[in-house]
Amino acid sequence: MIRKNVSLKSFNTFGLDYKADCIITLKSEESAAAFFRDRESCGKPLLILGGGSNVLFTSDFRGTILLPGFGGIRLEEMNGSDVVVSAGAGVKWDDFVEWCVSRGYGGIENLSLIPGSVGAAPIQNIGAYGSEIRETVIKLKAISIATGSVTMFSNEQCRFGYRESVFKNEKKGKFLITRVYFNLETNPRLNTSYNLLKEEVEKLGGESLRNVRDAVINIRRRKLPDPEIFGNAGSFFKNPVVSLSVAGALKADYPSMPAFPDQSGGVKLAGGWLIEQCGWKGKRAGDAGVHDKQALVLVNHGKATGKELYDLSEEIRKSVMEKFGVCLEREIEVIGIT
Ligand SMILES: Cc1cc2nc3c(=O)[nH]c(=O)nc-3n(C[C@H](O)[C@H](O)[C@H](O)COP(=O)(O)OP(=O)(O)OC[C@H]3O[C@@H](n4cnc5c(N)ncnc54)[C@H](O)[C@@H]3O)c2cc1C
Repeated sequence: MIRKNVSLKSFNTFGLDYKADCIITLKSEESAAAFFRDRESCGKPLLILGGGSNVLFTSDFRGTILLPGFGGIRLEEMNGSDVVVSAGAGVKWDDFVEWCVSRGYGGIENLSLIPGSVGAAPIQNIGAYGSEIRETVIKLKAISIATGSVTMFSNEQCRFGYRESVFKNEKKGKFLITRVYFNLETNPRLNTSYNLLKEEVEKLGGESLRNVRDAVINIRRRKLPDPEIFGNAGSFFKNPVVSLSVAGALKADYPSMPAFPDQSGGVKLAGGWLIEQCGWKGKRAGDAGVHDKQALVLVNHGKATGKELYDLSEEIRKSVMEKFGVCLEREIEVIGIT
């Protein structure tokens, strides 16, 4: 389906009302491959969009937006307690989590209620409540935008990291992910180690796959703004990872600063805490604001523009750098400013 001169308001969770020259819904993997093989249609700037929950538009998009519309959740294999399932790029991520939990397949329940599509989930290796998608992804299928050919990427080839993958780096803008394959368990080891999760699970009657999912949903609903009410894209910044020596020096100056060992050998700091210490929590610059419960989240109180949200994010980065000497990296993708 091709639409011209379309408002993007319902295509991004900040609710920003920019326009795109053209939006095309790709109905199948075959039509996506055919689209990329047709050089003429690839001439314009292209942007693949899922749920628009990790992007910030800052101007009209003078090009073509592609929406992977192909769904389908499949049980691929069962071997003892191991289950391989796959889902098409266009499936809503949380519908997929519900599908798995309702069948007793565990491994992604801590990632409940994360907005967006299955196809986008590997792009930044979505994570929450002590779990990341890289723990369960076996492989994914993608189409090369340059040639229209189909390629499989193994978990290793995806080069997952903290809110990172090869698709945010060397392969950025080069592939459309069409299907993701997961290794789940019918007898999963549940992970309730994350602060508050165990307590919430106990309130629901103790550990079970369903209770972990419901507990995560309850906590998220209490903590995070609903994009239907306040436009937002979840965490605007990543939690910064610093060296042991930098963390040690900061701890000496700020003993109450939260700090956690990171898999990389460095120390992960709580970005929200750093922003809060700079006085930003709950602050507004017009309709662009910082969420009053979680300072990592920027919100659109109604009529903010993408540029105003971007400028606010720059101010925040500057003050965190001045106070702590720590560089905040954006988690979301800014479109229209390089
Ligand atoms: C309230 C809220 C809470 C959130 N909480 C979390 C959280 O706990 N953890 C977390 O990790 N994230 C979180 N997010 C961020 C976001 O939900 C995830 O990053 C999600 O995976 C984005 O999916 P999407 O379909 O909306 O992607 P989009 O925003 O549409 O796209 C994101 C990027 O992926 C690319 N892309 C999208 N689909 C494809 C595809 N099929 N093939 C190739 N490239 C593609 C786009 O070009 C873009 O670069 C949150 C967002 C919101 C609004």
